Amino acid sequence: MFESGKPPVVEDTEENRQTCRKYCNICQNYKRHTLEKYQPTELFCGCGPSSAQNMKEIGCFCPACPLFTKHHLRGGYYCVRM
Ligand code: SF4
Ligand code: SF4
Repeated sequence: MFESGKPPVVEDTEENRQTCRKYCNICQNYKRHTLEKYQPTELFCGCGPSSAQNMKEIGCFCPACPLFTKHHLRGGYYCVRM
């Protein structure tokens, strides 16, 4: 268990954003919903969901991302929901 009782949050750093881009920017969900046009544009697990509306959930790559493993994240689709 973590000392605080919760896993550490994903920090909004340029390094983390670079890691995120390798996964989010190429996933079907991102491309289908043109998420680059809405804020936040990346690092949804740290910055919160996209402001895009009525998204379907198709093909999340988060489980392959090193930050997903490092921060013990679950579920994926952070652009849609936290
Ligand atoms: S877990 Fe998902 S949203 Fe978070 S940095 Fe990785 S690819 Fe991006
Ligand atoms: S959070 Fe998951 S579904 Fe959303 S853009 Fe990133 S990889 Fe794709």
